[in-house]
Amino acid sequence: MSNVNLLNLIDKLSGGYSIERNEWRSLLTMGDEESRMMLMQRAAEVKELRFGRGVFVRGLIEISSYCRNNCNYCGLRCANREARRYRLSKEQILDCCREGASLGFNTFVLQGGEDPAQNDAWMADVVRSIKKEFPQKAVTLSVGERSTEAYRMFLDAGADRYLLRHETRDDEHYARLHPSAMSAAERRHCLFTLKRLGFQTGSGMMIGSPWQTIDNIIDDILFLEELNPQMIGTGPFIPASGTPMADFPPGSPDLTILVVSLLRLRFPDALIPATTALASLHPEGMEQAVLAGANVVMPNLSPFRVREMYSIYNNKKSYGSESAQNLIELENKLKAIGHYIDYGRGDYVEHSKTSEANV
Ligand code: SAM
Ligand code: SF4
Repeated sequence: MSNVNLLNLIDKLSGGYSIERNEWRSLLTMGDEESRMMLMQRAAEVKELRFGRGVFVRGLIEISSYCRNNCNYCGLRCANREARRYRLSKEQILDCCREGASLGFNTFVLQGGEDPAQNDAWMADVVRSIKKEFPQKAVTLSVGERSTEAYRMFLDAGADRYLLRHETRDDEHYARLHPSAMSAAERRHCLFTLKRLGFQTGSGMMIGSPWQTIDNIIDDILFLEELNPQMIGTGPFIPASGTPMADFPPGSPDLTILVVSLLRLRFPDALIPATTALASLHPEGMEQAVLAGANVVMPNLSPFRVREMYSIYNNKKSYGSESAQNLIELENKLKAIGHYIDYGRGDYVEHSKTSEANV
């Protein structure tokens, strides 16, 4: 792509305008290194203008590896006989939060499979107990599709944020990635419900999931424009053993990083993580994502003995800079690229309300 064309598109995006499908396609298929670097650099500038060089940290607690669902890509799917199962009790989760608090975390993310034993009332009780002990900390849930009543209960219990990726906007693609009991429409319904109820809502998609096309990614971005979520998580697909997709190739780290840059330009205020999947696939994935516009990292705060069991894909990283107990390594890696850890809660703030800065 010529520099003039690229700069035009970058200006449109960072001016808050949408662009045409064919323009998205040109950006997503840009082959030359110079254009990609220019895009990444502009995305980094947009991030810096909005957030400075701080990267928010969230303590990730993986609360259960049981799941009633059977997503074809995920190592936790119920039909995976190779999966090792565990679930944390309320007390164990509270212990993780206590450790996280002592390490300086101000957000706890509770993520897990859709475990019938961790039902809606149990989940709400856990959130209430965390909030009672740590009223100032943010609680994020990522426990899948639940009823509107359940989401309302979680909110009443004090949950602040909810992560639920749409995975893919394309109904047919969604149907190839999931069993027939699940639908893209239901996923979207959950997301709009979460947003309407008042959660800071996160969505997103894997890059390079089987059969994904560039047009699928464009549809994903257009869907994100419609939903306008506060958080957007995107990482490469990584095969998981024991699943029907175990032999598919992983997604491209380069394309993932390009998508992170585009998302930063289109959604300047969004909280965009440098995902564990990217860090697991590429030794400098975290740093590259941050340099491309990501501003959140979610180090693992789960008990050590269960980390290997939460195996959503092969070789998932949960130590080193991906471990809550090793923030010094994360700090050093960020320092090497001119960034630092921001220990604030890192709530979503709209650009127009910049003065109400994160605390
Ligand atoms: N059960 C909840 C859900 O599905 O939203 C939360 C846990 S689920 C493991 C969290 C995310 O992991 C999913 O949204 C999916 O995008 C991602 N994931 C699952 N399998 C993956 C794989 N093989 N490669 C990359 N990401 C994967
Ligand atoms: Fe369960 Fe989530 Fe994995 Fe699907 S992606 S099988 S809902 S844990």
